[in-house]
Amino acid sequence: MQFINKAIDRTDGNQITKTYLKNIRIEDEQRYPVDYDNSFRNLPNKHDSYYKQMTKVLLKNQDNHCCYCMRRLTGDHDTTLEHIIPQAADENILSYYQQEAFPMFNNQHIKLSKVFSHEENPNLSILPHTVCYDNLVASCYGLFPIQQGESAVEDKSGHCCNNVRGNKNALPLYFLADINSILLYCTNGSIIENENSEWANEAKYLIWNTKLMWTSLVDIREMWYVLRNVDLKKIAEAGNDPISRYDLIQDNLLDADFPLKRIMDLATKFKKDKYWECFLLYDWFYSITWNTI
Ligand SMILES: [Zn+2]
Repeated sequence: MQFINKAIDRTDGNQITKTYLKNIRIEDEQRYPVDYDNSFRNLPNKHDSYYKQMTKVLLKNQDNHCCYCMRRLTGDHDTTLEHIIPQAADENILSYYQQEAFPMFNNQHIKLSKVFSHEENPNLSILPHTVCYDNLVASCYGLFPIQQGESAVEDKSGHCCNNVRGNKNALPLYFLADINSILLYCTNGSIIENENSEWANEAKYLIWNTKLMWTSLVDIREMWYVLRNVDLKKIAEAGNDPISRYDLIQDNLLDADFPLKRIMDLATKFKKDKYWECFLLYDWFYSITWNTI
């Protein structure tokens, strides 16, 4: 994960929410019936909805990466908006996220949408949580190829990040500037919590509830570790030629001194086009610091 500095794009994000609220205001009742699944996704028009506008701002804010797994995102059918405080949250769940380290979630900034929607002329400096920039982050769908005989095909169900997390606890540790010392990436592809961090428990939940130990993710991270000293251009170009790609993978795996079975498994997987394409989406891992296990 990388530190996400919400402050940089907050003005733009909040402006989208406020414009949306003005658009849905019911004058007779002097209130704003927030509807994330309908009006937020369809107004002012489907082509350039508030949802799409918000997606653009969030992707810019996150340098076009998934908040959880660090997959590269374009915003074109590969991005979903994650609600940190879940859409269906009640006051109890809201209070879990209202911790001192996350001032953007305190009562001066955010309110449950179901409360906000029924208030007469609510103060617009406190925004409804389902459409509030601070409560939204861009995530991937967690889609990976699956092996089918000799080839690989696109899997239709998500295996990590937003959709598998659902309503489970996931404190946004990526809003903390020292996230790199809270979550550690290991040379075997695993992601672990730093047991010495005050956030160790929350980090463990975050990894578990967003399934960041999904097999393909672990394999992809391990391959980036294996190829860490290879020129990035050479890695990118290897996609054009399956034979040189296989050589590149196998040679570097042999140098890594892994058990033979692990070498064969990884080589078999990543010589397939679909796995390799997916692997390249995770080039963020090329330049990280690895934790030796
Ligand atoms: Zn992801």
